[in-house]
Amino acid sequence: MMKAGGGQETPKTPEKSSTVYAVQCGECFKWRLIPTKVEFEDIRSKFIENPWFCNRKSDMSCEDPADIEYGTGQIWAIDKPNLPKTPVGYERILVLRRDFSKFDAYYITPTGKRVRAPSEVEKFLGANPKYNDVAVSDFSFAVPKIMEDTIPRNVGGKSCSGSSSKKMKTSQVDDD
Ligand SMILES: [Zn+2]
Repeated sequence: MMKAGGGQETPKTPEKSSTVYAVQCGECFKWRLIPTKVEFEDIRSKFIENPWFCNRKSDMSCEDPADIEYGTGQIWAIDKPNLPKTPVGYERILVLRRDFSKFDAYYITPTGKRVRAPSEVEKFLGANPKYNDVAVSDFSFAVPKIMEDTIPRNVGGKSCSGSSSKKMKTSQVDDD
């Protein structure tokens, strides 16, 4: 996902985070914006067996210019394909560390509790039989890979590299 509107916001205010979601067409490799997290998760959850193409958007084709270009002013993070969709009633949160080194993932449960690992999910489900209609496997704490070549130079993030050649098709770009 990427954050849209790049350039206007100072990249230093964590409260003011905006994230946009994009998916790469399997045909023309252009990036297309996906309007909602729910829709993005839906595409991501079955990306391997059901790759995405421009014509899945109404009035869009591979002829149209890309909605967004990789690496233009926003931090890009690339998701693994086929992560489970967030169960209904839960919210999946990704937090980018201040040094841009990585994301941390957690879920907010229907009771408002935060769970940060499969063991905590298991404990929660055990303690709340009411919410037992989901399984631990419905949760994933896998986080998107931050594309280091898109981290602004002036923020002094971690500087190792080697990741930028990864090509996956679902992406999150994060703007802080
Ligand atoms: Zn296309």
